[in-house]
This record gives sequence, structure tokens and C-alpha cells, in this order.
Amino acid sequence: MEPTPFLEVRNLTKHFPVKGGVLASKGARVHAVDGVSFSMARGETLGLVGESGSGKSTTGRAILRLIEPTSGTVLLEGEDVTRMRGEPLRRLRRDMQMIFQDPFASLDPTMTVASIVGEGIEIHGLVRNRKERDARVVQLLETVGLGAQHLNRRAHEFSGGQRQRIGIARALAVNPKLIVADEPVSALDVSIQAQVVNLLDDLQRQFGLTYLFIAHDLSVVEHVSTRVAVMYLGRIVEIAQAAELYGNPRHPYTEALLSAVPVPDPASKRNRILLEGDVPSPVTPPSGCRFHTRCHMRVPDCSKNEQTLKEIRPGHWVACQVRAP
Ligand code: ADP
Ligand code: MG
Repeated sequence: MEPTPFLEVRNLTKHFPVKGGVLASKGARVHAVDGVSFSMARGETLGLVGESGSGKSTTGRAILRLIEPTSGTVLLEGEDVTRMRGEPLRRLRRDMQMIFQDPFASLDPTMTVASIVGEGIEIHGLVRNRKERDARVVQLLETVGLGAQHLNRRAHEFSGGQRQRIGIARALAVNPKLIVADEPVSALDVSIQAQVVNLLDDLQRQFGLTYLFIAHDLSVVEHVSTRVAVMYLGRIVEIAQAAELYGNPRHPYTEALLSAVPVPDPASKRNRILLEGDVPSPVTPPSGCRFHTRCHMRVPDCSKNEQTLKEIRPGHWVACQVRAP
């Protein structure tokens, strides 16, 4: 028998009601995530990539129960997360943490670092008093490359890179197993991005963490991902080991995303595939293959047949009737 995967996501679906307007009165729904399935091994990094609006954040939030999925199942070490209540749910809130693009967007700018990083520690009763909390926060600050002198400074005093380090310390504070990092470097200067990505990489080894690493372009996750999943309009269209996905992309959408990634050696420049038009509305997604309206490889049938992932090589799955018939 196969060992139980660390995380298993089965047919995860999240539809939001449309608010306001004619569509709302007709009961229209935003198909944010539509039947997403994948599993993760302990200690791996799965990169989840796709243009803005493809459903990446919603997938991450639904896994963490920050929003309730419409349907589908999420199993963490074999336990059904979607049905948890009470104490098991409380425990889950420690085991799974999120790192946000801007960790301070939802926080009071006058809060101190001690209270931001220490909040989870206190909520989960991991320390007995303020003194213990502060000692633990200092230890966490050092772990993420910041010093004890920051303890009583306030959120608004920090640079983008420092804020993200504080966001990482906050996530680490409760000893999680799984971290969903939702575009953790997208808002940072390019020069700072690599530092934060490297920090996440170091922490993974140090603490045995498993990452779902969300990004909107393929270049950010290339060097940290064990595997990469590409999402388009609520569906995974391709998933493979990182080296395989970058070296042998099969879905036309992956190819287009990859062709936009700058390469260091201009002589080996990939042919740029321009994506036609904008991402269609997830309220009325295209019929058949959802990507067909923008696809450079489309054939007439693509608007008719819904595509499911097919395994074209061990561990390499593609949802495309042209490339993976
Ligand atoms: P991504 O993270 O890939 O940019 P999201 O998961 O944020 O995508 O969003 C997927 C789709 O769901 C988008 O069309 C977005 O507008 C919609 N959406 C996200 N959250 C909500 C919400 N709370 N209510 C209604 N629609 C939402
Ligand atoms: Mg997002």
C-alpha cells in the first residue's frame, strides 16, 4: 500500500456568490477553484503558479480553512481537515500557517513586533507569561535574521524585506508543519527577493517544513520547488517535478508562461509566446478546455471537451487534448 501522503487535496472547489448586479440576481458564481487535486510529500516545496485570478490564493486559504471550501476534501497526515471542529481545528491552526504578500496589510501599524510575532504563541498557550513570550520572540527574530533590538519597534518602522521576515517569524512561532507562502516576495524589490527566498529555503531544512509556495510567475519558484503545479482559471493544467516542468513543459499555457521568463544567456532565448487577450471571467469560464480562447495550439474540439490531467511520464501530468491525447 502507498504510504499516506503528508497533504492530500481532492477535488477542492470554491465558488463565491457574485455580489451585486444582474448576475447576482441570477445566482451567478465565481468559479475560483474548480476540482483541484494534488498531494504533497513531507518536506517538499510545491510551487503553485498562474496569472492573477487563477485561484491560487483561494486554494491556499481553503486548505488552511481560512475560508470554507464549497466541496472537496483536504487530508493532512490522513486526517480530514474540512470536517474538523473544536480542539482538532485549534490544533490545525497551529500546524498550518500562512505567509502573506504583505504581512502587515491587515495589522494595526502601531502594534509592536513583540505582539505581532507573539500573538499566536499566546493564543495557543505556548508560554506562561510576557517575559517568556518576549524571549521566544527574540529567538524567532534571530532565526529570521533580525535582532533583539526590534522587539518593541512598531510595524510601520520597517522596510518591506524586514516586514516579510517578521511575517515569517510570526508563522514560525507556533511550530507549524505546513506553510502556505502566498506570493511572499511579489511586493519586494528584486534585490531583496532572493534573500527572502533563501531564508525560506534555509528554514525549511532547519525545521523540516513543507511549503506550498504560490507565485504568479515561474521564475520565482524555479530554484526552490521540488514540484510545480500550473493553475489556470480554477484548474491545475500541468504538474510535474520542477526540472521536468521547466525542461519539458507540455501544456501550451505553461509554455507561454515560461517563454516570458527572462533567461541569463540571450543566445538561448526562448521563443516568446504571447498570450492572446485577458484571462476570461471566472463567472462564465470558457467551455471545454478553459484555456482554449487564448491558446496558440487550439483545435476546434478544444471548446467542447473538458480536459482532465493525464500522466504523460511518471509524475508528469498534463490536461491538454493536443499535447496529452
Ligand atoms: P489568485 O490568487 O490566483 O490571483 P484568487 O484565488 O485570489 O486568485 O481569486 C480567484 C478568483 O476568485 C478571482 O476571480 C477573484 O476575483 C475571485 N475571488 C477571490 N476571493 C473572492 C471573494 N471573497 N468573493 C468573490 N470572489 C472572490
Ligand atoms: Mg493571490
